[in-house]
Amino acid sequence: QIYLYQDRLTPLTEVHISPEDRGYYFGDGAYEVFRVYNGKLYETEAHFTRLNKTVDALRIHLPLGQPALTQRLEELIQANGLQDGIVYMQITRGAAARVHAFPSGAEPVLMAYTQTLARPYASMEQGIAAITADDIRWLRCDLKTLNLLPNVMAKQTAIDRGAGDVIFHRSGTVTECSSSNIMMVKNGVVRTHPANNLILHGVTRAVVLRLAQAEGIPVQEMPFTVEELLEADEAFITGTTVEVTPVTSVDGKPIGDGSPGAVTRRLQQAFDTSIPTA
Ligand code: PMP
Repeated sequence: QIYLYQDRLTPLTEVHISPEDRGYYFGDGAYEVFRVYNGKLYETEAHFTRLNKTVDALRIHLPLGQPALTQRLEELIQANGLQDGIVYMQITRGAAARVHAFPSGAEPVLMAYTQTLARPYASMEQGIAAITADDIRWLRCDLKTLNLLPNVMAKQTAIDRGAGDVIFHRSGTVTECSSSNIMMVKNGVVRTHPANNLILHGVTRAVVLRLAQAEGIPVQEMPFTVEELLEADEAFITGTTVEVTPVTSVDGKPIGDGSPGAVTRRLQQAFDTSIPTA
């Protein structure tokens, strides 16, 4: 396996991350997860737009410009012979003695690797059970930072309870899931939380909203409550690795008739057509 480390492709043995890296001390960094289908990066521009937004907000300077970085990621995919999977990329503020304020002279550290990953055929077909949990995260959930402890804890609670994922809510208003966005369908209308500071602006979310519009399915970017979700005809989550996965129950209660709905199926089919072929 080859890694991207700063601006070069190298084996893992040549990747030297300091114990004083601020990613390690503070979670002081940003990341992206790109999908690769048939050896090709998917929605590259959207991922970079989001990465740029995060690093700008964190005031971390990318060591490579977007064209050079895209080229490196493509070389990484080639070097590892990746067909279907993901590229994980993270960038931290760099290594320095542990003080909260930005250190002077620290050099940002960039690292990326690839991982083979099949599409989640089983859960896309059957759907998943979800549980609800208080969204205890900060108020900049639109930034893709390394600080994922609330997401990690919530996901583990879901697993411990035999569920597939957790649906976050703020005082009853549904925001998103631990690593995906959520949409509900009521009377043929797709509804999802607006892309503001309370959710990550999912690349898949944007793709699905675009596909829904192209399919003539009405879309409302409007918050909904856990109560409304429980009364929905259908629900599904969207994300780079989950694609469009039906949610068939919430807190043990069936959504609709408890099986994946017709609108969800249509959007899954539309999503299939958006995937680059060989
Ligand atoms: N919300 C959160 C909290 C996430 O971690 C993710 C996964 N990146 C998403 C939503 C979905 O975003 P995307 O479609 O870009 O993968």
